[in-house]
Amino acid sequence: MQFRVGLGHDTHRLVPGGPLRLGGVDIDFEFHLEGHSDADVLLHAITDGLLGAAGLGDIGEMFPDTDPDNSGKDSSLMLSQANERLRQDGWLINNLDCVVLAERPKLLPHRDLIRERISGVLSISPAQIGLKGKTGEQSGEVGKGQIIQAMCVALLSRA
Ligand SMILES: [Zn+2]
Repeated sequence: MQFRVGLGHDTHRLVPGGPLRLGGVDIDFEFHLEGHSDADVLLHAITDGLLGAAGLGDIGEMFPDTDPDNSGKDSSLMLSQANERLRQDGWLINNLDCVVLAERPKLLPHRDLIRERISGVLSISPAQIGLKGKTGEQSGEVGKGQIIQAMCVALLSRA
């Protein structure tokens, strides 16, 4: 059995106007994340963690922001396509563990819905997806509510 670990990280700026798209879920909030696609910071971190573990490069290579097709793109489609690529190479996802760094909104009320949504996209169980919310303790860009960041570690295996 071969094992590979991957690390994904992403940052997007918050701009006025909701809802907030996070982990494939639209959260009622007065700000949203800005980016070329739908700017789903959590799904981008997960996609990068998976691609990194499988040695398949990164999300920017697979979905260049110079390609107009990727403008406003639903990030769950990108995650799904990345998942297909690693399955083609024989990789299975053992587990993911993710951290969302956001001063607001609170992640906990949305956590289980997000885990369910991600498990549906990746065809794994919600029990294989760890998800934690952390604030910036009112300091730095996270703490001042200017950005949201996400991190993800992914463990893959193949026979
Ligand atoms: Zn991103």
